[in-house]
Amino acid sequence: MGLLDRAGARLTGRPEEAEILVVNTCSFIDTAKQESVDTILEMARHKTSGRAKKLIVAGCLVERYRDEIRKNIPEVDAVVGTGELESILEAAGVAPAAKAVSPFNILTGAAVRAGQESLAGTHKEPAFRAEGELRERQGRFAREEWQGAAHLLPTYLYDENTPRLLSTGRTSAYIKIAEGCDHPCTFCVIPNLRGKFRSRRFESVVTEARRLVDSGVREITLIGQDTTCYGEDLGLKDGLAALLDELAKIEGLRWLRFLYAYPNRITGRLLETIAKHDNICKYLDVPLQHASPAVLKSMKRGAGAEIFLKTLGKVRTAVPGIALRTSFIVGFPGETDADVAQLEEFVKEARFDWLGVFSYSDEEGSGAHAFGGKVPKRTIEARRKRLMKLQQGISKRAKQEWVGREVVVLAEGESAETELLWEGRTQFHAPEIDGKVYINDFGPLAGLEAGRFYRAEITEAHEYDVVARVVSEAL
Ligand code: SF4
Repeated sequence: MGLLDRAGARLTGRPEEAEILVVNTCSFIDTAKQESVDTILEMARHKTSGRAKKLIVAGCLVERYRDEIRKNIPEVDAVVGTGELESILEAAGVAPAAKAVSPFNILTGAAVRAGQESLAGTHKEPAFRAEGELRERQGRFAREEWQGAAHLLPTYLYDENTPRLLSTGRTSAYIKIAEGCDHPCTFCVIPNLRGKFRSRRFESVVTEARRLVDSGVREITLIGQDTTCYGEDLGLKDGLAALLDELAKIEGLRWLRFLYAYPNRITGRLLETIAKHDNICKYLDVPLQHASPAVLKSMKRGAGAEIFLKTLGKVRTAVPGIALRTSFIVGFPGETDADVAQLEEFVKEARFDWLGVFSYSDEEGSGAHAFGGKVPKRTIEARRKRLMKLQQGISKRAKQEWVGREVVVLAEGESAETELLWEGRTQFHAPEIDGKVYINDFGPLAGLEAGRFYRAEITEAHEYDVVARVVSEAL
């Protein structure tokens, strides 16, 4: 979006108005692929009924199914994979603003391995992590089975000078601090799509965060496939903690959080850092995937319920009142009823604030694709529903305890359901994924403003959402 905007394109979120449609896709599991394909087909209709002259498909679906998209959806005029972001301009028929240096920090080939200057020539970058090189030799990133996939793995990183447009409003922004992943999880093809782990430079992230806050952003969420590895390739120890420490000093930044912690990388220093700064949200998202040691071993993630409970205990002691989010996969090949019972017991004991359950998706190119003991789809669905039902009860009881508490709420706007309600979030809700705070009483105020913070009292609790009454503005 930033590249197109800088090159003079006028952006609109209304497909019926657009001359060029871009669908950014996902392809890590079946449901994501389906949603991507449905959206492409929906957008394709605008070529006959709307103003659209061009349809471009971008992102991870292109990495996996480049040839098939071109063959089966003739309305698609161009595809742009995850490693060729700049070609969006050519695909859209928009000339680059100037013949400039690449807006990305491209790490490629021998220069990267030797830890020399990147091909863009403007940045010094260290080599990938030894773990990534080893996994590459073991075939972790292989894409041969994917017809049409670009041979080379994506190696770009954006930096503070890469043009960017926020699609998340004025107040909240994501910052990607790293790309790629070196973990061997056998259910996952994200490393094949995104390449080896590589961190953005520390100063680059800090500069971008400062600029965002200067432009009015008040909440920053750090993301990456594995945020807790941040800085290992830059020779930093406890890099994420150091980065949070630095970002927390930015005046005007009210909420700072990170997502996707890897369970065995939650260090004491990281927890101390979360506890130490008022503007670091007391919130931890740690996808655990399962709790049965046998399933976790087969997933090549290791650990199990006992170790996880210790980790969660450590987290809760270091940061009292912290909200915990996790996600699980049910129906992994070989998963037995006993494994599921173990997972359910764990969920009861762990008492997560937020929990997502995914059905196992059998992805070509993943290690588990070749595994025997595939679980029937109906069984997977039944297991998923049971686990969600269990969590619903836990969540409802936990949310009841919120009633009467005074919290700071970021007002996000009128509820989609009725204009009598506003929606918001506390520091214990990450953007887009967790429950909501519905505001039904503005208290002493005549009205609310989206993007502003208010003090509010929780008055009611539902299964995942709560209702609140505004007490005052939160300055
Ligand atoms: S850590 Fe996450 S992104 Fe990396 S392989 Fe495992 S599940 Fe995939």
